[in-house]
Amino acid sequence: MLGALHSRQTQGDPVTTITVDAVVIGSGPNGLVAANALVDAGWDVLVLEAQDSIGGAVRSAEVTAPGYSTDLFSAFYPLAAASPVIKNLDLDQHGLTWVRAPAPLAHVLDDGRAAVLSADPADTAANLDTFAPGDGQAWLTMFAEWQRIRDPLLDALFTPFPPIKAALSLLRRLKTAGTMDLARLAVLPVRRLADENFRGAGAGLLLTGNAMHSDVPPDAAGSGVFGWLLCMLAQDVGFPVPQGGSGKLAQALESRVIKGGGQIRTAAQVTSVLLAGGRAVGVRCADGSLVRARRGVLADVSAPSLYRDLVGLQNLPTRLGAQLENFQWDHPTLKINWALNRPIPWRAAGAKGAGTVHFGVDNDGFVDYAADLSVGRLPKAPFALFGQMTTTDPSRSPAGTESAWAYTHVPHGIDWTDDRVTEHAQRVQDSLERLAPGFADSIVGRHIQSPADLEASNAKLVGGATNGGTAGLHQQLIFRPTTGTGRPETPIPGLFLASASAHPGGGVHGACGWNAALAALGSSGGTGALRRRLNQTAWARLLPRR
Ligand SMILES: Cc1cc2nc3c(=O)[nH]c(=O)nc-3n(C[C@H](O)[C@H](O)[C@H](O)COP(=O)(O)OP(=O)(O)OC[C@H]3O[C@@H](n4cnc5c(N)ncnc54)[C@H](O)[C@@H]3O)c2cc1C
Repeated sequence: MLGALHSRQTQGDPVTTITVDAVVIGSGPNGLVAANALVDAGWDVLVLEAQDSIGGAVRSAEVTAPGYSTDLFSAFYPLAAASPVIKNLDLDQHGLTWVRAPAPLAHVLDDGRAAVLSADPADTAANLDTFAPGDGQAWLTMFAEWQRIRDPLLDALFTPFPPIKAALSLLRRLKTAGTMDLARLAVLPVRRLADENFRGAGAGLLLTGNAMHSDVPPDAAGSGVFGWLLCMLAQDVGFPVPQGGSGKLAQALESRVIKGGGQIRTAAQVTSVLLAGGRAVGVRCADGSLVRARRGVLADVSAPSLYRDLVGLQNLPTRLGAQLENFQWDHPTLKINWALNRPIPWRAAGAKGAGTVHFGVDNDGFVDYAADLSVGRLPKAPFALFGQMTTTDPSRSPAGTESAWAYTHVPHGIDWTDDRVTEHAQRVQDSLERLAPGFADSIVGRHIQSPADLEASNAKLVGGATNGGTAGLHQQLIFRPTTGTGRPETPIPGLFLASASAHPGGGVHGACGWNAALAALGSSGGTGALRRRLNQTAWARLLPRR
């Protein structure tokens, strides 16, 4: 019987009805973290993954040329390295080794200059001083402030909402005035953040490029904190990658689940959540098999998919369906992967040792690019994020070569014909050629992932969106995924949202899965009845049935 197996199951196993304590829908990093938390608590857990391989947007494969490993989606993991959730899983004991490029990040300009965020803060400061004397010291001051509040801040970010304990600890460290400054930082547009703290272009390029890892425009409230957080993490823990490919991170999470007694089934698409007496009691899979869950169903899928496709709006308060009409996806993505027969011939020397390179725009160009995305115009000058993976991890391709990728966000509503995909990919490549003459001659293999390709390989990347919904302030905290409690509990008892559609959102940090697991454990523990009652009362007030 499946319930007794302790290994990964594959397609072709007999269709059965089994019973476990909890079923996790989806094996992205959040699903796997949730499964780990539950097996640690002694629960009998089954993870069901629609695709043939586990990992969600944390997967690698050989798609460009033999011997070249490509991270198909996410590639750099500052959030995972800093996340208390992932750190506590001791994944080094399950085959994960983090490796880092000589420098985490550079932004290259058409004039040959580069803003470089180096591993040593003093080197970053020296580079920023070349843009405007004094900016180096301003950077060091910003970094010192980060170090003072880092631990309680990360706890506040990565624990269930509201993060009362972490917030109190922050308040103790910052006092009232400092807390007000932090609150202002949380809503500051990244352009203002750069203008208020620096005189030259360099720091603005680093901050804004990092803010653009989210979909919040550079002059919109809330973009500053993204740029600041990622820059400070880059300076602190670097932009590490798993040795051997991003898939190694997912495999370490998988191995830990299995060693803990959990089970993972691939090629197992969940088509509905089973309800009994208004409670989630299991799931049905596309092959007709049923999995009964005694204690909880945790969904590492997008919020619209969970509520519309798996639960059905008819089973939910009418107001939730109406709110989902306003659910905003983040921008679609176009990704180009290359196998190169030599390192990239950057004109800007500072880019040579950087794992991540940003290019395509200057500080004003970010605003033009964001405006293009907002109004649905394909950018003529796309901003691109670029990964030099062999520079970061020599195991990714043969010695003396480079495995690289670039991705750029594109507007919603574009009809992505093959010609348009090729044309836009070429626009990104031409921009690279200007910055690194000879780049095109070094290509020995190329592979493109259109927005539709991304979605086909992971149903959660709807339209090529990377973060499970916009990171805009209007869809954060208690507004994520829709107006509610900001917590993983849903209006259906026993059902928990465990994906990046939940607070705190996109990125590989595992907090969404961890929070969902804690909520599931809490709702069936000693205080479970009280928690369930409080949750139902909260939802009844927020989403009255009529
Ligand atoms: C191109 C790209 C680049 C990125 N770069 C970075 C980066 O460098 N660093 C970083 O931190 N983050 C990055 N991200 C974001 C990060 O990868 C995601 O935020 C993260 O993977 C979200 O994890 P998740 O577990 O919520 O969902 P996912 O990783 O999307 O996993 C969801 C899983 O659920 C499965 N699933 C969906 N529906 C069903 C169903 N009905 N039944 C069964 N299974 C189902 C899917 O197949 C998938 O495996 C990137 C994302 C993309 C797409």
